Amino acid sequence: MRPEPQGKQVSASQAPQAKELLATLVGFDTTSAKSNLQLIAFVEDYLKSHGIASTRVPSPDGEKADLFASIGPQGKGGIGLSGHSDCVPVEGQRWTSDPFTLTERGGKLYARGSCDMKGFIACVLASAPLFKSRKLKEPIHIIISYDEEVGCTGVRPLIARLGKDLPRPRAVIVGEPTSMRVIDAHKRIDAYRTRVIGREAHSSMPELGVNAIAAAAALICELERLGADIAAKQNDPRFEPPFSTISVGTIRGGTAPNIVPKHCEFQWQVRGLPSAAPAEVPRDLAAFATNALLPRMKQTSKEAAIDTEVQGSVPAFVASPDSSAVTLALGLTGAETTHAVSYTTEAGLFEQAGCPSVVCGPGDIAQAHAGDEYVSIAQLDACMTFLAGLAGKLSD
Ligand SMILES: [Zn+2]
Repeated sequence: MRPEPQGKQVSASQAPQAKELLATLVGFDTTSAKSNLQLIAFVEDYLKSHGIASTRVPSPDGEKADLFASIGPQGKGGIGLSGHSDCVPVEGQRWTSDPFTLTERGGKLYARGSCDMKGFIACVLASAPLFKSRKLKEPIHIIISYDEEVGCTGVRPLIARLGKDLPRPRAVIVGEPTSMRVIDAHKRIDAYRTRVIGREAHSSMPELGVNAIAAAAALICELERLGADIAAKQNDPRFEPPFSTISVGTIRGGTAPNIVPKHCEFQWQVRGLPSAAPAEVPRDLAAFATNALLPRMKQTSKEAAIDTEVQGSVPAFVASPDSSAVTLALGLTGAETTHAVSYTTEAGLFEQAGCPSVVCGPGDIAQAHAGDEYVSIAQLDACMTFLAGLAGKLSD
């Protein structure tokens, strides 16, 4: 049965409020490498001005913090609205206007983070007075994290406290940009660094050295081959592309053109289907190194080595078939179907921690991380309607 869309009662005055809050939020340069404490302090003050207390969960070095705030009755359960405060860098990108000044052009609001994902946070904050004014039967929790863009690391200490000194939501809506579509599955990330050690030599006598860059190039070609192999074997049509993918992101090696390089290292990622076995690719690469490269390298230098280390993982997300979070989001959007995506969010971590989750938020992922990132005012309006519907549903 098609669920009835809810929350048509959004007042025309709320979307401008979200726009104003978004203008303030994007003014804080919260690139992941920088502190987010100014943004967190602003959100704390804003919530406090509406009589809402919040708890900071500081990062180990004290430079950043998560924020957790509850509105409504104390106690267990409630609905979590989760967003990350950090953004990707603007360096090297084309921007028509200042990335840290919200600029409106043709119904679109341009700024770094406008889409991913300060637009959602702005809508949540703009809805806080409405949440506060309703007699909620269960709480709404606002959850703001840091360091999502560098491996979803910042939210983990907060999640570890859910069900302990912080209440554990009975469902979590992660407001990443999905164009307000309901996402019930995403891929995982496994990040690696491979280091090659060879031997230096004069470039006129390369046979006396072991060229670490050449070995790294062979390893990267092998990763390309493994990727093609996976693409031919896997096919999950819910995902685009419908298989796990491998991508090399950085490479560094050598000191001068006339020296056979001793060192080379590269970083790479596997974006895996939820059903894929994450250990397979590094295992296959290690087998190639052991069988095809190292015997020859070690003939010249006993110190020759190839090592791969895990730099981090973010779990895949698969909502359970009877997920209350997915049912809730379908009801609030009026959508009949769910979708799966290839990008990764904090939803897998919440789901793992026992909070049924769903990904649904304003903005198109195609604009996330890009130059001239924007969120449309229509998307903010749709999110405000969604949140008003949530308030209605929890206070019926
Ligand atoms: Zn994001």
